[in-house]
Amino acid sequence: MDIGILNLEICTNYIVNPDTGLINSAVQVPSPNQDARPQGVKPELILIHGISLPPGEFGGAAVKSLFTNSLDWTTHPYYTQIKDLLVSAHLFIPRQGQVVQFVPLDRRAWHAGKSSFQGRESCNDFSIGIELEGTDEVPYTDEQYTRLILIVDAIFDAYPEMSIRKIAGHCDVSPRRKTDPGPAFDWLRMYDELKTRVEAPKNK
Ligand SMILES: [Zn+2]
Repeated sequence: MDIGILNLEICTNYIVNPDTGLINSAVQVPSPNQDARPQGVKPELILIHGISLPPGEFGGAAVKSLFTNSLDWTTHPYYTQIKDLLVSAHLFIPRQGQVVQFVPLDRRAWHAGKSSFQGRESCNDFSIGIELEGTDEVPYTDEQYTRLILIVDAIFDAYPEMSIRKIAGHCDVSPRRKTDPGPAFDWLRMYDELKTRVEAPKNK
């Protein structure tokens, strides 16, 4: 089996179901760490995060466990620092492998904490949180950029009020607390590839 072709088939097929806020082709792992957005508030902002657990280690199941409140705190010393945190994100894009969805896009995930975007506080209320598995310093993978672009494009299709101008990093909205996705994240690459994708004719 040609894995490259298999990946391509998976990647080109992201569509947001407007009734459920779920993305087809994403692995659904519902997180209890979610609630309703404030009345009348729709997602308007995409927030990019970087995460790895333990920090700097890739490929394990700890992020999924953290977001579903099932992380065994005793398995790594670092975990005592995040013990009892109730957090989530809408989406997790691992280094390789399929995108995981924890929270429907029309619901509020708990990823930004104290935050402000263009003077508007509490970004969780109006944002979609996308976690990339990584660290601030290690380049993110080609597969992650590919999937991120396709996911963001699918989000734009579902929520016409969103745009390329409303994508930010966690470091931008919580500048004194957070550094992710870090200098390793190539914003120009994302914007270039996204612009190409968004402006391409679509056969849907
Ligand atoms: Zn973050």
